[in-house]
Amino acid sequence: MNLTSKIYIAGHRGLVGSGIVRALREAGYQNLVMRTHQELDLTRQSEVEEFFENERPAGVIVAAAKVGGILANQSFPSEFLYENLMIASNVIHTAAKQKVEKLLFLGSSCIYPKFAPQPIQEKSLLTGPLEKTNEAYAISKIAGLKLTEYYNTQYGLKFISAMPSNLYGPGDNFHPDHSHVIPGLIRRFHEAKMNHSPVIKVWGTGKPLREFLYVDDLAAAVCFLFQNYEAPELINIGTGDEVTIAELALLIKQTVGYEGKIEFDEGFPDGTPRKVMDCTRIRGLGWGPRVDLHAGLKSTYEWVLRTGALK
Ligand code: GDP
Repeated sequence: MNLTSKIYIAGHRGLVGSGIVRALREAGYQNLVMRTHQELDLTRQSEVEEFFENERPAGVIVAAAKVGGILANQSFPSEFLYENLMIASNVIHTAAKQKVEKLLFLGSSCIYPKFAPQPIQEKSLLTGPLEKTNEAYAISKIAGLKLTEYYNTQYGLKFISAMPSNLYGPGDNFHPDHSHVIPGLIRRFHEAKMNHSPVIKVWGTGKPLREFLYVDDLAAAVCFLFQNYEAPELINIGTGDEVTIAELALLIKQTVGYEGKIEFDEGFPDGTPRKVMDCTRIRGLGWGPRVDLHAGLKSTYEWVLRTGALK
């Protein structure tokens, strides 16, 4: 694989895919191939085969998936399982048939067992029951991870998988109710500042611990693994650092410049008390994150203001 090799990025419009495209371009890759959902429906095998036949990419990064918050996952499990299984099967299988030189498939930390020991190690996959609310998504992603692994072990293809932790950054979903905590709080602190509200409510007790990874760090890690990793074992991508939701809320308050008071609303659920990944393996390979939470929040908020993402 070199800088002129043709690389197909599936899902280039999402938070993850768009970050990966930026990182590949910065690294000097000149021959990136992308298709919108309208141009190529990855759930249709014949369309995927035709696309691969015409384009013949040397490398593939699979960042395409049907994603959503807890509500969407709970309401549409059939679609989450079916569409994600089809995307994974069609892209990975067609890439294997064409003997694509390198493929990277992305999972997500939420597909580890619900009660996996913390920090979560790669070997915890499939060792216990899944979180019920995103079972469908998890099963489809686990199938994709396993397919990637089997093509690697059975046929010697350089197909690899990575597991990113909770992501945030430019391009995130800032929906008022259905977003994750960082975009949700950026929206609420910003609106509270604009409306001069004296108090803002943060959901839960503020005590849960979470790990957050800035999207450009994830993208850099994906480039790094694409160039330097070939083993069939999946690999975690995270910071290994944790913050409480209360600490996070304070950082977002400072970033946004809100001057009112924070109150915790225990009427909302805390979710799992602690969620952090063990990133010993990727650090051992020589990769580490560069953007700390403070800087990442700052650039995310600047992006929000610049693009009007809250409107
Ligand atoms: P989780 O990591 O799967 O639990 O997903 P979330 O990002 O939705 O929530 C993380 C934690 O932040 C939970 O303890 C929430 O209760 C808490 N939290 C506090 N305020 C908010 C908010 O405005 N939106 C969301 N999504 N979570 C919030």
